[in-house]
Amino acid sequence: MAAAKDAGITQIDHLITTHYHGDHIGGLPELANRIPIRHFVDHGPNVQPAPIIDPVLRQYAELYAKVKHTVVKPGDRVPIAGLDVRVMSSAGETVKTPLPGAGTRNPYCATFKPHTVNPVSGQPVGNTEDEQSVGTHTTFGKFRFVYLGDLTWNKEFDLMCPANRIGAADVFLVSRHGQPSSNSEVLVHALRPRVTITNNGPRKGGQPDAMRILLSSPGLADLWQIHFSFLGGQEYTVPGMFIANSEQAAIPVAPMTPPQPGAQTQPASPHDGTAYWIKVSAQMDGSFTVTNSRNGFMKDYPAVNR
Ligand SMILES: [Zn+2]
Repeated sequence: MAAAKDAGITQIDHLITTHYHGDHIGGLPELANRIPIRHFVDHGPNVQPAPIIDPVLRQYAELYAKVKHTVVKPGDRVPIAGLDVRVMSSAGETVKTPLPGAGTRNPYCATFKPHTVNPVSGQPVGNTEDEQSVGTHTTFGKFRFVYLGDLTWNKEFDLMCPANRIGAADVFLVSRHGQPSSNSEVLVHALRPRVTITNNGPRKGGQPDAMRILLSSPGLADLWQIHFSFLGGQEYTVPGMFIANSEQAAIPVAPMTPPQPGAQTQPASPHDGTAYWIKVSAQMDGSFTVTNSRNGFMKDYPAVNR
């Protein structure tokens, strides 16, 4: 809400729920209590019903019944004045037709290795809500922004091979919080983002395998992070001026070995204080400014010719 206030927003005209995991829709009832939401966009039915999420989805259905609700498929547009928002993925399907100017052969496809096991959870990859993610490409003048929710490593291949259907991006908000279960070279390196933002937590995202791919992306100017990540340590991160939140005064140099998921695991350190954000302000010519709300650090990125 602080970020919305800072941006001068008094209502949300269109809200895209990428998929029905708690970290993407769990806060929706609280959000809807604080700001009017006029249009809800999603991928359709939940493929992972569970006792923890079903009550939230019943509240969600009550909310969208009162206003407008759209289920999108790849290629659809989300109608926002001044922007061109195109759906790249939804409900397990990816777009088949390249965006204007895109569609060249993707050189990273040749060395792609599909995942049979999720490298984070150790579980066989399958048909979870992550694969259903609504992914979008947004154009504002010459500025291009990509966010694919938690779209998975193997779905990145479907979307980006053999031809790169998206083209190049100015800003890429990373997939799946910067975990190595997404963010393959076929996606990241082919998008050639000038800036990536990782919406990671202290113990979710930022692992060395993901950071190596993100930080070696051709043409990358900067990576900004929502949190310091223990999983990356100081070895696999960026200067603190590019990071919005830290729950601990000191981050060890070495990456932390992630704890086994499950009820026996100590929760990550709580975040009860002020929450800071990364702000992107784009211009029609493709130039943009990124700001860290914690320390006020700003950086300008000029317009480029493609
Ligand atoms: Zn997620």
